[in-house]
Amino acid sequence: MEKVVIIGSGPAGWTAALYTARAQLAPLVLTGKQPGGLLTTTSIVENFPGFPEGVDGYELMTRMQKQAERFGTKTSFGVVDSVDFSLRPFQLIVDGEKVAAETVIIATGASHKHLGAPGEHELETKGVTYCATCDGALPVFRNQPLVVIGGGDSACEEAQYLTRFGSIVYLVHRRDSLRASRIMAERTLANPKIKPIWDSAVTEILDVTQDKVTGVKIKNLKTGAENFLSVAGVFIAIGHVPNTDLFKGKIDTDENGFIIPREGTMTNIPGVFVAGDCADHVYRQAITAAGAGCASAIDCERFLAAHLLQV
Ligand code: NAP
Repeated sequence: MEKVVIIGSGPAGWTAALYTARAQLAPLVLTGKQPGGLLTTTSIVENFPGFPEGVDGYELMTRMQKQAERFGTKTSFGVVDSVDFSLRPFQLIVDGEKVAAETVIIATGASHKHLGAPGEHELETKGVTYCATCDGALPVFRNQPLVVIGGGDSACEEAQYLTRFGSIVYLVHRRDSLRASRIMAERTLANPKIKPIWDSAVTEILDVTQDKVTGVKIKNLKTGAENFLSVAGVFIAIGHVPNTDLFKGKIDTDENGFIIPREGTMTNIPGVFVAGDCADHVYRQAITAAGAGCASAIDCERFLAAHLLQV
């Protein structure tokens, strides 16, 4: 039986692992389908303290993993099929195998939100993508007009990155100002290869009949005017949804699926803790996720000491 199982391997998961490992609890980290989480798809992380020149997202996550493993973290590239928190110890089914755990830290993060426009699903990986750093350099996008949808830091980051490859990068945003942090917004709007299209929504992605992206239909939300924009790539960066489907009906969440911590980082189930983007719709930073991971580990350690007397 495991004393601590950590579900997820982003900044929250690895930090929870580091702290519980140093508390001699030999945590088991179940990495999920995307080891390292969303940060591994970011190019340069400029706002994680301690890296004045910035650090590659994948490298940062690899370093966190190594640091956690150095103190006795066990890593399994498993995907959790189901959880049962009604039993003690808790039962998890991981790739068909049973895992028993005295405590669980949920750090499952978040996934890219989908637009829901016609053509989006059909043309995914055929010109529609959610990750410029993963796909931006593909030959199909080189020297072609591209469009980024969204007005947050992600959209700005993607648009700036894509200027290396595309002939022009349209930034379609539904309002007339960016939500992004000031430094990101200023850099984006100062880039001569980025053309913002304000107050507009992409209403359809074309062309499903040709099985590739040829353009997007755009509607101005103020005037109602409709336009066609010829592009070879559609990069959707409109935020995230928490990866909490696994816990539906088993743990308290808000109406958007974010897990609600009840006492410190402990959920409504004593012995189940939560950290990072699956519980945070406000800050959503690597450093805040890491901080929450640390807090969840300390809460977990104290819970084990107080309730199970096995530490
Ligand atoms: P976000 O801040 O939630 O921004 C999402 C953007 O998408 C908003 O501009 C929103 O419009 C728009 N949007 C949402 N739903 C939409 C829809 N259905 N159709 C059209 N547009 C839609 O998400 P994010 O940019 O992914 O950032 C998430 C967090 O990560 C933030 O805290 C951000 O600071 C952080 N982050 C930081 C960096 C960095 O510092 N380098 C990089 C990436 C992300 P409205 O503005 O109208 O709501």
